[in-house]
Amino acid sequence: MTAFKFCPRCARPLIEREQGGLVRRVCPDQACGFVHWDNPTPVVAAVVEHEGQIVLARNALWPQRFFGLITGFLERNEDPAEAVLREVEEELGLKAQSPAFIGHYTFERMNQLIVAYHVVAEGEIVLNEELSEYIRVAPEKARYWPAATGLALRDWLHSRGYQPELIDLSPRGKGG
Ligand SMILES: [Zn+2]
Repeated sequence: MTAFKFCPRCARPLIEREQGGLVRRVCPDQACGFVHWDNPTPVVAAVVEHEGQIVLARNALWPQRFFGLITGFLERNEDPAEAVLREVEEELGLKAQSPAFIGHYTFERMNQLIVAYHVVAEGEIVLNEELSEYIRVAPEKARYWPAATGLALRDWLHSRGYQPELIDLSPRGKGG
């Protein structure tokens, strides 16, 4: 996440100061008192099971050929379990049900808290404009990647008795 340079309340350049145990960007004007807390943003993620297979999708903005879980931001006052069903319908065109909480995972690079669910979805897959392609993999062949959503997939596979391999994302590895 890009840090604020200027105070969003009074437009003064922010300074760095220790506040609440961490160095944060704060407004130098005491009367304004703005502190950029930089709290993580919650994001829901879905391990989508469709006709017995896991649906992984590629975001249109991702440069490399990498397939991941369906993710999205919560709306104000929205229950995460409702949000994950909404995202699956919006992005894949599938009717999803029975959201089952997998866990929450820190996605450090994006300063997000990933709230992951498994859902069972029905219908015909129709991608929205955010996604450029998808693959379906059998759970016994699924692999995971070393980041928040990948760990959620790993944990769900473990819960079903599978022992997925880690995808090697290094340049010499086979990749996603
Ligand atoms: Zn200010």
